[in-house]
Amino acid sequence: MTRPRILVLGTGGTIAGSAGSATGGGYRAGGLALSAMLDAAAKLGLEAELVGEPIAQIGSQDMGWDQWSALHAACLAACGDPAISGIIITHGTDTAEETALLLDLTLPAGKPVVLVGAMRPADAVGSDGLRNLANGVAVASDPQGGGRGVMVVMGDAVFAAVDVRKAATANIDAFRGFPRGPIARVTPSQITWFGPPHRADAPAAYAWPQSLPRVAILTAGAGMDEKPVEALLGIGCKGIVLAGMGQGNAPGCVLDALAAAAKADIAVVRSSRVDEGMVERNVEVDDDAHGFVAARALGPAKARILLQVLLANGISDPAGVQAAFDNL
Ligand code: GLU
Repeated sequence: MTRPRILVLGTGGTIAGSAGSATGGGYRAGGLALSAMLDAAAKLGLEAELVGEPIAQIGSQDMGWDQWSALHAACLAACGDPAISGIIITHGTDTAEETALLLDLTLPAGKPVVLVGAMRPADAVGSDGLRNLANGVAVASDPQGGGRGVMVVMGDAVFAAVDVRKAATANIDAFRGFPRGPIARVTPSQITWFGPPHRADAPAAYAWPQSLPRVAILTAGAGMDEKPVEALLGIGCKGIVLAGMGQGNAPGCVLDALAAAAKADIAVVRSSRVDEGMVERNVEVDDDAHGFVAARALGPAKARILLQVLLANGISDPAGVQAAFDNL
């Protein structure tokens, strides 16, 4: 039987990080070449052929348009290549949720696309990178892995892009899913899917844009005033995502300033600075009167990505933006 061929796109992160010591505290993310990781993976006896393509060697805090464009182009080509069964992206964990959602919104869902990272550098005692990569290979080569769009595999769990977020700074089980938890459990030898593919046969939901407009996240804090809203408008933001208190709240003067922005055709989305939970329309804040959009289950980082994609695709009216958040 021929082994599935998996394209591995390397971008850096802690999974490609080296501390120079098994017990040291500091390290540099992205220092190791993808080829070194694939050499180590080759010794694991995985039932797949891994084909490497380096995209970047960065910490994912520096992930942006250039890397995303290269990733999207490489994934799209691989989606159309019958010789490739699945795609793995090695990625820093800090912004894995953003890259995962951006690609999930803009790629067809036929082949599995799996982001894997690590919480501990490659040479640290108890390093989790190779295991996450082996688990990613299991997911990317599984016949049931298709139709689920982009996934993040960390800590023996598989998360869908729409659900996933980084919830801890340092533990190896740092990722959580909301509103769904993991969609599968995985080890290098076994996968248990918890449901059928949720995007079976789905084409890309949105076109890959020419660029992404400037959208900022504004975190609400007690005692703040409206000046930060004015500052964001002053630098040309086309959209503002409020990381609000509780269910997307902010002081009255801030909401008034955001409502004025919405009247001036700036898209305003209310999300929450709280770790988890829905932000629904018209509960405490009158979204209808203010012209706001409620982010529902998306946290601020992913709400920003969705809003950027919508604006880039010409969807900017509150009803259209709300429908996209509702239908995610
Ligand atoms: N800040 C780095 C990054 O996101 C390291 C964190 C990690 O990969 O776990 O790439």
